[in-house]
Amino acid sequence: MYDVVVAGAGSAGLFLAYRLAKKGFKVAVVESKPSHKIGEKVCGDAVGKHHFEKLGVEPPRIGEDATSFFKGVRVFSPNKKAYVTAWGEGYALDRKAFGQKLLKWALNAGAELLDSHTVVKPIVEGTWVKGLEAVRSDGARVEVGGKVTVDATGVSPVLRTKLPESWWVSERIPEEDYIIAYRVIARVEREQETELALIYLDPTVAPGGYWWWFPKGRNEVNVGLGVQFKQSLPRPEDNFAKYIEPYLREARAEVVHEGFGVCPTRRTIACMVWNGFAVIGDAACTANPIHGGGIGPSMLSADAAAKAITEAFEKGEPSLENLWKMHRLYHEAYGAKQAGLDVLRIYLQKLSSADLDFVIEKKIVTDEELAEMGYRGELVSAVISKTMRALKLLSRPSLLKELVQVKNYMDKARKLYLNYPESPEGFEKWYSEQKKLFDEVKRKYAKP
Ligand SMILES: Cc1cc2nc3c(=O)[nH]c(=O)nc-3n(C[C@H](O)[C@H](O)[C@H](O)COP(=O)(O)OP(=O)(O)OC[C@H]3O[C@@H](n4cnc5c(N)ncnc54)[C@H](O)[C@@H]3O)c2cc1C
Repeated sequence: MYDVVVAGAGSAGLFLAYRLAKKGFKVAVVESKPSHKIGEKVCGDAVGKHHFEKLGVEPPRIGEDATSFFKGVRVFSPNKKAYVTAWGEGYALDRKAFGQKLLKWALNAGAELLDSHTVVKPIVEGTWVKGLEAVRSDGARVEVGGKVTVDATGVSPVLRTKLPESWWVSERIPEEDYIIAYRVIARVEREQETELALIYLDPTVAPGGYWWWFPKGRNEVNVGLGVQFKQSLPRPEDNFAKYIEPYLREARAEVVHEGFGVCPTRRTIACMVWNGFAVIGDAACTANPIHGGGIGPSMLSADAAAKAITEAFEKGEPSLENLWKMHRLYHEAYGAKQAGLDVLRIYLQKLSSADLDFVIEKKIVTDEELAEMGYRGELVSAVISKTMRALKLLSRPSLLKELVQVKNYMDKARKLYLNYPESPEGFEKWYSEQKKLFDEVKRKYAKP
Protein backbone atom coordinates (compact mmCIF):
# COMPACT_ATOMS: atom_id res chain seq x y z
CA MET A 1 0.00 0.00 0.00
CA TYR A 2 1.44 3.32 -1.12
CA ASP A 3 0.32 6.90 -0.67
CA VAL A 4 0.54 7.30 -4.42
CA VAL A 5 0.90 4.67 -7.13
CA VAL A 6 1.81 6.02 -10.54
CA ALA A 7 1.20 3.94 -13.69
CA GLY A 8 3.78 4.80 -16.37
CA ALA A 9 7.38 6.01 -16.12
CA GLY A 10 7.33 8.62 -18.89
CA SER A 11 8.14 12.29 -18.33
CA ALA A 12 4.76 12.85 -16.59
CA GLY A 13 4.85 9.85 -14.23
CA LEU A 14 8.50 10.20 -13.25
CA PHE A 15 8.29 13.93 -12.64
CA LEU A 16 5.21 13.43 -10.42
CA ALA A 17 6.96 10.63 -8.52
CA TYR A 18 9.98 12.90 -8.02
CA ARG A 19 7.92 15.83 -6.73
CA LEU A 20 5.83 13.71 -4.34
CA ALA A 21 8.64 11.48 -3.04
CA LYS A 22 10.64 14.63 -2.31
CA LYS A 23 7.80 15.77 -0.06
CA GLY A 24 8.01 12.51 1.89
CA PHE A 25 5.12 10.55 0.34
CA LYS A 26 5.49 6.81 -0.18
CA VAL A 27 5.37 6.52 -3.97
CA ALA A 28 5.55 3.57 -6.41
CA VAL A 29 5.97 3.85 -10.18
CA VAL A 30 4.72 0.84 -12.16
CA GLU A 31 6.19 0.56 -15.66
CA SER A 32 5.95 -2.11 -18.36
CA LYS A 33 9.49 -1.55 -19.68
CA PRO A 34 12.55 -2.83 -17.89
CA SER A 35 14.35 -0.07 -16.04
CA HIS A 36 17.21 0.30 -18.59
CA LYS A 37 14.70 1.04 -21.41
CA ILE A 38 12.90 3.84 -19.60
CA GLY A 39 13.13 7.02 -21.68
CA GLU A 40 13.06 5.26 -25.05
CA LYS A 41 10.28 6.80 -27.11
CA VAL A 42 9.63 7.74 -30.73
CA CYS A 43 9.62 11.52 -30.46
CA GLY A 44 10.87 14.70 -32.14
CA ASP A 45 13.13 15.13 -29.06
CA ALA A 46 12.73 18.94 -29.00
CA VAL A 47 11.77 20.82 -25.86
CA GLY A 48 11.54 24.53 -24.99
CA LYS A 49 13.79 25.91 -22.26
CA HIS A 50 10.90 27.92 -20.79
CA HIS A 51 9.23 24.78 -19.42
CA PHE A 52 12.15 24.09 -17.10
CA GLU A 53 12.24 27.72 -16.00
CA LYS A 54 8.53 27.55 -15.16
CA LEU A 55 8.98 24.29 -13.24
CA GLY A 56 12.03 25.62 -11.39
CA VAL A 57 14.21 22.64 -12.27
CA GLU A 58 17.56 22.48 -14.01
CA PRO A 59 17.28 22.34 -17.82
CA PRO A 60 18.85 19.55 -19.89
CA ARG A 61 22.63 19.67 -20.36
CA ILE A 62 24.43 19.28 -23.67
CA GLY A 63 26.52 16.13 -23.57
CA GLU A 64 24.34 14.58 -20.86
CA ASP A 65 20.62 14.53 -21.71
CA ALA A 66 20.70 16.97 -24.65
CA THR A 67 22.65 16.84 -27.89
CA SER A 68 22.27 20.42 -29.10
CA PHE A 69 20.62 23.76 -28.50
CA PHE A 70 18.05 25.59 -30.67
CA LYS A 71 17.55 29.32 -30.90
CA GLY A 72 14.14 29.00 -32.50
CA VAL A 73 11.70 27.13 -34.72
CA ARG A 74 11.28 28.08 -38.40
CA VAL A 75 7.96 27.29 -40.05
CA PHE A 76 7.95 27.04 -43.87
CA SER A 77 5.02 27.63 -46.23
CA PRO A 78 3.92 24.68 -48.41
CA ASN A 79 5.66 26.13 -51.48
CA LYS A 80 8.79 26.67 -49.28
CA LYS A 81 9.17 30.21 -50.67
CA ALA A 82 8.52 31.86 -47.31
CA TYR A 83 8.88 31.20 -43.62
CA VAL A 84 8.21 32.65 -40.23
CA THR A 85 10.49 32.06 -37.24
CA ALA A 86 9.48 31.82 -33.59
CA TRP A 87 12.63 32.75 -31.70
CA GLY A 88 12.91 31.00 -28.34
CA GLU A 89 15.52 28.69 -26.89
CA GLY A 90 15.15 24.95 -26.69
CA TYR A 91 17.00 21.66 -26.65
CA ALA A 92 17.38 18.61 -28.86
CA LEU A 93 17.18 15.92 -26.21
CA ASP A 94 18.91 12.64 -25.90
CA ARG A 95 15.48 11.20 -25.16
CA LYS A 96 16.66 8.09 -23.36
CA ALA A 97 19.21 9.94 -21.24
CA PHE A 98 16.51 12.49 -20.33
CA GLY A 99 14.15 9.69 -19.21
CA GLN A 100 16.94 8.03 -17.24
CA LYS A 101 17.71 11.36 -15.55
CA LEU A 102 14.07 11.77 -14.47
CA LEU A 103 14.13 8.18 -13.19
CA LYS A 104 17.22 8.95 -11.16
CA TRP A 105 15.56 12.07 -9.70
CA ALA A 106 12.51 10.02 -8.67
CA LEU A 107 14.52 7.14 -7.17
CA ASN A 108 16.94 9.45 -5.35
CA ALA A 109 13.96 11.26 -3.85
CA GLY A 110 12.72 7.91 -2.46
CA ALA A 111 10.20 6.61 -5.04
CA GLU A 112 10.14 2.86 -5.73
CA LEU A 113 10.13 1.46 -9.26
CA LEU A 114 8.24 -1.70 -10.22
CA ASP A 115 9.62 -2.12 -13.73
CA SER A 116 8.66 -4.89 -16.19
CA HIS A 117 5.15 -4.70 -14.71
CA THR A 118 2.35 -4.15 -17.23
CA VAL A 119 -0.62 -2.36 -15.70
CA VAL A 120 -3.87 -4.01 -16.75
CA LYS A 121 -6.65 -2.35 -14.77
CA PRO A 122 -7.59 -0.15 -11.87
CA ILE A 123 -8.84 -1.52 -8.55
CA VAL A 124 -12.24 0.08 -7.98
CA GLU A 125 -14.18 0.04 -4.71
CA GLY A 126 -17.51 1.82 -4.86
CA THR A 127 -16.84 5.28 -6.28
CA TRP A 128 -13.12 5.18 -5.42
CA VAL A 129 -9.98 3.99 -7.20
CA LYS A 130 -7.86 2.07 -4.69
CA GLY A 131 -4.82 1.03 -6.72
CA LEU A 132 -4.03 -1.02 -9.80
CA GLU A 133 -3.50 -4.52 -11.02
CA ALA A 134 -0.40 -5.37 -13.06
CA VAL A 135 1.15 -8.42 -14.68
CA ARG A 136 4.83 -9.03 -13.97
CA SER A 137 7.17 -10.25 -16.73
CA ASP A 138 7.07 -13.78 -15.21
CA GLY A 139 3.27 -13.76 -15.61
CA ALA A 140 2.41 -13.20 -11.95
CA ARG A 141 -0.53 -10.89 -11.16
CA VAL A 142 0.32 -8.13 -8.72
CA GLU A 143 -2.01 -5.74 -6.91
CA VAL A 144 -0.54 -2.40 -5.91
CA GLY A 145 -2.65 -0.39 -3.50
CA GLY A 146 -2.60 3.39 -3.49
CA LYS A 147 -4.50 6.10 -1.62
CA VAL A 148 -4.12 7.94 -4.92
CA THR A 149 -3.63 6.13 -8.22
CA VAL A 150 -2.33 8.13 -11.17
CA ASP A 151 -2.73 7.25 -14.83
CA ALA A 152 0.42 8.41 -16.63
CA THR A 153 0.45 5.61 -19.23
CA GLY A 154 0.59 7.96 -22.21
CA VAL A 155 -1.45 8.10 -25.37
CA SER A 156 -3.41 4.85 -24.75
CA PRO A 157 -4.46 5.41 -21.15
CA VAL A 158 -4.77 2.03 -19.48
CA LEU A 159 -6.51 3.04 -16.28
CA ARG A 160 -8.90 5.90 -16.97
CA THR A 161 -10.48 4.18 -19.98
CA LYS A 162 -11.33 1.14 -17.81
CA LEU A 163 -13.29 3.18 -15.29
CA PRO A 164 -17.10 3.29 -15.41
CA GLU A 165 -18.39 5.34 -18.32
CA SER A 166 -20.46 7.50 -15.98
CA TRP A 167 -17.26 8.78 -14.31
CA TRP A 168 -16.33 12.00 -16.13
CA VAL A 169 -12.65 11.12 -16.09
CA SER A 170 -13.19 8.16 -18.47
CA GLU A 171 -14.07 10.45 -21.45
CA ARG A 172 -13.38 8.95 -24.88
CA ILE A 173 -11.42 11.04 -27.39
CA PRO A 174 -12.31 11.13 -31.11
CA GLU A 175 -9.60 9.72 -33.36
CA GLU A 176 -9.32 12.90 -35.46
CA ASP A 177 -7.82 14.56 -32.36
CA TYR A 178 -4.65 12.46 -32.68
CA ILE A 179 -1.64 12.65 -34.95
CA ILE A 180 0.09 9.52 -36.14
CA ALA A 181 3.74 9.98 -37.02
CA TYR A 182 6.63 8.16 -38.60
CA ARG A 183 10.07 9.40 -37.70
CA VAL A 184 13.72 8.48 -38.22
CA ILE A 185 16.95 9.41 -36.54
CA ALA A 186 19.75 9.55 -39.08
CA ARG A 187 23.46 10.28 -39.18
CA VAL A 188 24.16 12.71 -41.99
CA GLU A 189 27.43 13.25 -43.80
CA ARG A 190 26.46 16.74 -44.91
CA GLU A 191 26.96 18.99 -41.87
CA GLN A 192 23.84 20.65 -40.44
CA GLU A 193 23.18 24.09 -39.04
CA THR A 194 21.99 23.39 -35.50
CA GLU A 195 20.50 26.79 -34.67
CA LEU A 196 16.95 26.15 -35.88
CA ALA A 197 14.39 23.40 -35.70
CA LEU A 198 12.56 23.30 -39.04
CA ILE A 199 8.85 22.67 -39.53
CA TYR A 200 7.26 22.28 -42.97
CA LEU A 201 3.53 22.85 -43.38
CA ASP A 202 2.19 21.02 -46.38
CA PRO A 203 -1.30 19.50 -46.55
CA THR A 204 -0.22 17.26 -49.44
CA VAL A 205 2.77 15.78 -47.64
CA ALA A 206 1.39 15.81 -44.08
CA PRO A 207 -2.41 16.27 -44.15
CA GLY A 208 -3.62 17.85 -40.91
CA GLY A 209 -0.07 17.85 -39.50
CA TYR A 210 3.44 18.77 -40.64
CA TRP A 211 6.83 17.30 -41.30
CA TRP A 212 9.94 18.25 -39.39
CA TRP A 213 13.71 18.33 -39.69
CA PHE A 214 15.28 18.82 -36.25
CA PRO A 215 19.09 18.82 -36.08
CA LYS A 216 20.40 16.86 -33.12
CA GLY A 217 23.95 18.01 -33.76
CA ARG A 218 26.08 18.76 -36.80
CA ASN A 219 25.86 15.19 -38.10
CA GLU A 220 22.58 13.87 -36.77
CA VAL A 221 18.94 14.71 -37.47
CA ASN A 222 15.52 13.76 -36.16
CA VAL A 223 13.15 13.82 -39.14
CA GLY A 224 9.49 12.90 -39.07
CA LEU A 225 6.08 13.33 -40.57
CA GLY A 226 2.82 13.45 -38.63
CA VAL A 227 -0.68 13.27 -40.14
CA GLN A 228 -4.10 13.66 -38.62
CA PHE A 229 -5.33 10.24 -37.53
CA LYS A 230 -8.12 9.54 -39.99
CA GLN A 231 -8.78 6.35 -41.90
CA SER A 232 -8.81 8.05 -45.27
CA LEU A 233 -5.43 9.72 -44.99
CA PRO A 234 -2.21 8.33 -46.51
CA ARG A 235 0.04 6.24 -44.30
CA PRO A 236 2.75 8.52 -42.89
CA GLU A 237 5.55 6.11 -43.86
CA ASP A 238 4.40 6.17 -47.51
CA ASN A 239 4.46 9.95 -47.67
CA PHE A 240 7.77 9.95 -45.83
CA ALA A 241 9.29 7.66 -48.47
CA LYS A 242 7.82 9.73 -51.30
CA TYR A 243 8.51 13.26 -50.11
CA ILE A 244 11.13 13.28 -47.32
CA GLU A 245 13.58 10.54 -48.21
CA PRO A 246 15.01 12.54 -51.15
CA TYR A 247 16.18 15.18 -48.63
CA LEU A 248 17.84 12.48 -46.52
CA ARG A 249 19.58 11.06 -49.59
CA GLU A 250 20.80 14.53 -50.45
CA ALA A 251 22.28 14.86 -46.95
CA ARG A 252 23.89 11.40 -47.39
CA ALA A 253 22.03 10.00 -44.41
CA GLU A 254 22.25 6.66 -42.70
CA VAL A 255 19.15 5.82 -40.68
CA VAL A 256 20.00 4.66 -37.15
CA HIS A 257 16.47 4.40 -35.73
CA GLU A 258 12.95 4.49 -37.11
CA GLY A 259 9.50 4.09 -35.61
CA PHE A 260 5.89 5.19 -35.27
CA GLY A 261 4.18 7.19 -32.57
CA VAL A 262 0.78 8.65 -31.79
CA CYS A 263 0.23 11.93 -30.03
CA PRO A 264 -2.93 13.70 -28.82
CA THR A 265 -3.15 17.20 -30.32
CA ARG A 266 -6.14 18.82 -28.62
CA ARG A 267 -7.40 20.37 -25.38
CA THR A 268 -7.16 18.26 -22.21
CA ILE A 269 -9.80 15.77 -21.19
CA ALA A 270 -12.53 17.75 -19.44
CA CYS A 271 -12.10 16.12 -16.01
CA MET A 272 -8.66 14.98 -14.82
CA VAL A 273 -9.42 13.61 -11.33
CA TRP A 274 -11.77 11.30 -9.42
CA ASN A 275 -11.96 9.87 -5.90
CA GLY A 276 -8.39 8.63 -5.27
CA PHE A 277 -7.44 9.16 -8.90
CA ALA A 278 -5.69 11.59 -11.24
CA VAL A 279 -4.62 11.60 -14.90
CA ILE A 280 -1.53 13.39 -16.25
CA GLY A 281 0.49 13.75 -19.46
CA ASP A 282 -0.64 12.28 -22.78
CA ALA A 283 -3.18 10.14 -20.88
CA ALA A 284 -4.95 13.44 -20.13
CA CYS A 285 -4.14 14.95 -23.59
CA THR A 286 -1.77 17.66 -22.34
CA ALA A 287 0.37 18.03 -25.51
CA ASN A 288 0.32 21.26 -27.49
CA PRO A 289 -2.49 21.06 -30.11
CA ILE A 290 -0.49 22.90 -32.78
CA HIS A 291 2.94 21.26 -32.72
CA GLY A 292 2.38 18.22 -30.47
CA GLY A 293 5.15 19.25 -28.04
CA GLY A 294 4.12 17.28 -24.98
CA ILE A 295 7.19 16.78 -22.80
CA GLY A 296 7.01 20.19 -21.08
CA PRO A 297 3.20 20.17 -20.60
CA SER A 298 3.29 16.58 -19.29
CA MET A 299 5.68 17.79 -16.59
CA LEU A 300 3.50 20.84 -15.91
CA SER A 301 0.50 18.54 -15.43
CA ALA A 302 2.58 16.42 -13.04
CA ASP A 303 3.50 19.57 -11.14
CA ALA A 304 -0.18 20.56 -10.84
CA ALA A 305 -1.10 17.01 -9.73
CA ALA A 306 1.68 16.97 -7.13
CA LYS A 307 0.38 20.21 -5.59
CA ALA A 308 -3.26 19.08 -5.67
CA ILE A 309 -2.47 15.64 -4.19
CA THR A 310 -0.40 17.19 -1.39
CA GLU A 311 -3.21 19.61 -0.50
CA ALA A 312 -5.81 16.82 -0.67
CA PHE A 313 -3.87 14.77 1.92
CA GLU A 314 -3.54 17.87 4.10
CA LYS A 315 -7.32 18.33 3.92
CA GLY A 316 -7.87 14.74 5.10
CA GLU A 317 -8.50 12.54 2.05
CA PRO A 318 -7.80 12.52 -1.71
CA SER A 319 -11.46 12.76 -2.71
CA LEU A 320 -12.80 14.16 -5.98
CA GLU A 321 -13.56 17.47 -4.22
CA ASN A 322 -10.13 17.70 -2.61
CA LEU A 323 -8.22 16.82 -5.81
CA TRP A 324 -10.36 19.15 -7.94
CA LYS A 325 -7.87 22.02 -7.62
CA MET A 326 -5.56 20.24 -10.04
CA HIS A 327 -7.70 21.64 -12.86
CA ARG A 328 -7.23 25.26 -11.89
CA LEU A 329 -3.50 24.76 -11.34
CA TYR A 330 -3.00 23.07 -14.70
CA HIS A 331 -5.29 25.31 -16.73
CA GLU A 332 -3.55 28.41 -15.37
CA ALA A 333 -0.16 26.91 -16.20
CA TYR A 334 -1.00 25.50 -19.65
CA GLY A 335 -4.51 24.08 -20.15
CA ALA A 336 -6.25 27.35 -20.99
CA LYS A 337 -3.64 28.15 -23.63
CA GLN A 338 -4.10 24.63 -24.99
CA ALA A 339 -7.86 25.14 -25.31
CA GLY A 340 -7.30 28.33 -27.35
CA LEU A 341 -4.75 26.59 -29.54
CA ASP A 342 -7.12 23.67 -30.07
CA VAL A 343 -9.53 26.04 -31.84
CA LEU A 344 -6.65 27.25 -34.02
CA ARG A 345 -5.61 23.64 -34.74
CA ILE A 346 -9.08 22.72 -35.97
CA TYR A 347 -9.07 25.79 -38.22
CA LEU A 348 -5.53 25.28 -39.56
CA GLN A 349 -6.24 21.64 -40.39
CA LYS A 350 -8.77 22.73 -42.99
CA LEU A 351 -6.61 25.37 -44.70
CA SER A 352 -5.37 24.63 -48.18
CA SER A 353 -1.75 24.93 -49.33
CA ALA A 354 -2.71 28.17 -51.10
CA ASP A 355 -4.14 29.63 -47.86
CA LEU A 356 -1.05 28.69 -45.89
CA ASP A 357 1.27 30.08 -48.59
CA PHE A 358 -0.71 33.33 -48.49
CA VAL A 359 -0.60 33.68 -44.69
CA ILE A 360 3.14 33.03 -44.48
CA GLU A 361 4.22 34.88 -47.65
CA LYS A 362 2.26 38.01 -46.74
CA LYS A 363 3.71 37.92 -43.22
CA ILE A 364 0.19 38.04 -41.77
CA VAL A 365 1.88 36.68 -38.67
CA THR A 366 5.31 38.10 -37.86
CA ASP A 367 8.14 36.27 -36.08
CA GLU A 368 7.34 38.06 -32.81
CA GLU A 369 3.62 37.38 -33.09
CA LEU A 370 4.23 33.70 -33.76
CA ALA A 371 6.43 33.43 -30.67
CA GLU A 372 3.85 35.38 -28.64
CA MET A 373 1.05 33.10 -29.85
CA GLY A 374 3.14 30.11 -28.89
CA TYR A 375 3.62 31.38 -25.35
CA ARG A 376 0.13 32.74 -24.71
CA GLY A 377 -2.10 30.64 -26.95
CA GLU A 378 -3.79 33.77 -28.30
CA LEU A 379 -4.17 34.93 -31.85
CA VAL A 380 -2.78 38.35 -31.03
CA SER A 381 -5.15 41.16 -31.92
CA ALA A 382 -2.39 42.82 -33.88
CA VAL A 383 -2.62 40.06 -36.45
CA ILE A 384 -6.09 41.07 -37.47
CA SER A 385 -6.55 44.65 -36.31
CA LYS A 386 -3.55 46.46 -37.74
CA THR A 387 -4.66 48.42 -40.76
CA MET A 388 -1.64 47.36 -42.72
CA ARG A 389 -2.48 43.73 -42.24
CA ALA A 390 -6.13 44.33 -43.02
CA LEU A 391 -5.11 45.97 -46.27
CA LYS A 392 -2.92 43.05 -47.17
CA LEU A 393 -5.89 40.83 -46.53
CA LEU A 394 -8.22 42.78 -48.77
CA SER A 395 -7.46 40.40 -51.57
CA ARG A 396 -8.79 37.61 -49.33
CA PRO A 397 -11.74 39.11 -47.40
CA SER A 398 -13.14 35.71 -46.47
CA LEU A 399 -9.86 34.78 -44.79
CA LEU A 400 -9.93 38.04 -42.81
CA LYS A 401 -13.49 37.33 -41.67
CA GLU A 402 -12.59 33.81 -40.64
CA LEU A 403 -9.51 34.96 -38.74
CA VAL A 404 -11.65 37.39 -36.73
CA GLN A 405 -14.08 34.58 -35.90
CA VAL A 406 -11.27 32.18 -35.00
CA LYS A 407 -9.73 34.74 -32.68
CA ASN A 408 -13.07 35.15 -30.91
CA TYR A 409 -13.50 31.41 -30.51
CA MET A 410 -9.94 31.10 -29.20
CA ASP A 411 -10.56 33.84 -26.63
CA LYS A 412 -13.79 32.13 -25.55
CA ALA A 413 -12.11 28.74 -25.20
CA ARG A 414 -9.25 30.18 -23.15
CA LYS A 415 -11.64 32.05 -20.86
CA LEU A 416 -13.78 28.97 -20.39
CA TYR A 417 -10.79 26.99 -19.15
CA LEU A 418 -9.60 29.85 -16.95
CA ASN A 419 -13.09 29.89 -15.43
CA TYR A 420 -13.09 26.17 -14.78
CA PRO A 421 -15.58 25.43 -11.96
CA GLU A 422 -14.20 25.70 -8.43
CA SER A 423 -15.86 22.42 -7.39
CA PRO A 424 -17.40 19.32 -9.05
CA GLU A 425 -20.91 20.82 -8.61
CA GLY A 426 -20.26 23.24 -11.47
CA PHE A 427 -18.80 20.62 -13.82
CA GLU A 428 -21.83 19.51 -15.83
CA LYS A 429 -22.85 23.06 -16.71
CA TRP A 430 -19.24 23.91 -17.64
CA TYR A 431 -18.93 20.73 -19.68
CA SER A 432 -22.02 21.46 -21.74
CA GLU A 433 -20.71 24.99 -22.48
CA GLN A 434 -17.35 23.55 -23.50
CA LYS A 435 -18.99 20.92 -25.68
CA LYS A 436 -21.25 23.49 -27.33
CA LEU A 437 -18.28 25.73 -28.14
CA PHE A 438 -16.12 22.98 -29.65
CA ASP A 439 -19.05 21.39 -31.49
CA GLU A 440 -19.66 24.79 -33.09
CA VAL A 441 -15.97 25.23 -33.98
CA LYS A 442 -15.85 21.73 -35.50
CA ARG A 443 -19.09 22.28 -37.41
CA LYS A 444 -17.71 25.51 -38.86
CA TYR A 445 -14.13 24.54 -39.63
CA ALA A 446 -13.39 20.83 -39.28
CA LYS A 447 -12.82 18.96 -42.50
CA PRO A 448 -15.61 16.42 -42.98
C1 LIG B 1 6.29 11.08 -33.17
C2 LIG B 1 6.19 11.99 -31.98
C3 LIG B 1 6.98 13.12 -31.92
C4 LIG B 1 6.92 13.94 -30.80
N1 LIG B 1 7.77 15.01 -30.73
C5 LIG B 1 7.81 15.75 -29.61
C6 LIG B 1 8.78 16.78 -29.48
O1 LIG B 1 9.63 17.02 -30.34
N2 LIG B 1 8.76 17.51 -28.33
C7 LIG B 1 7.85 17.28 -27.34
O2 LIG B 1 7.86 17.99 -26.32
N3 LIG B 1 6.93 16.29 -27.45
C8 LIG B 1 6.89 15.52 -28.55
N4 LIG B 1 5.99 14.50 -28.64
C9 LIG B 1 5.02 14.28 -27.57
C10 LIG B 1 5.68 13.70 -26.34
O3 LIG B 1 6.52 12.64 -26.68
C11 LIG B 1 4.63 13.25 -25.34
O4 LIG B 1 3.65 14.25 -25.19
C12 LIG B 1 5.23 12.96 -23.97
O5 LIG B 1 6.22 11.97 -24.08
C13 LIG B 1 4.15 12.53 -23.00
O6 LIG B 1 4.72 12.04 -21.82
P1 LIG B 1 3.91 11.00 -20.93
O7 LIG B 1 4.77 10.75 -19.74
O8 LIG B 1 2.54 11.47 -20.73
O9 LIG B 1 3.77 9.70 -21.81
P2 LIG B 1 4.90 8.69 -22.31
O10 LIG B 1 6.18 9.37 -22.50
O11 LIG B 1 4.32 7.97 -23.47
O12 LIG B 1 5.06 7.68 -21.08
C14 LIG B 1 4.11 6.70 -20.77
C15 LIG B 1 4.82 5.57 -20.03
O13 LIG B 1 3.85 4.62 -19.63
C16 LIG B 1 4.30 3.33 -19.93
N5 LIG B 1 3.14 2.47 -20.10
C17 LIG B 1 2.23 2.49 -21.10
N6 LIG B 1 1.32 1.53 -20.92
C18 LIG B 1 1.66 0.90 -19.76
C19 LIG B 1 1.11 -0.19 -19.05
N7 LIG B 1 0.03 -0.85 -19.47
N8 LIG B 1 1.73 -0.58 -17.91
C20 LIG B 1 2.82 0.04 -17.46
N9 LIG B 1 3.40 1.06 -18.11
C21 LIG B 1 2.82 1.49 -19.24
C22 LIG B 1 5.12 3.51 -21.20
O14 LIG B 1 6.02 2.43 -21.39
C23 LIG B 1 5.81 4.82 -20.92
O15 LIG B 1 7.03 4.63 -20.24
C24 LIG B 1 6.01 13.65 -29.76
C25 LIG B 1 5.19 12.53 -29.82
C26 LIG B 1 5.28 11.69 -30.92
C27 LIG B 1 4.43 10.46 -30.95
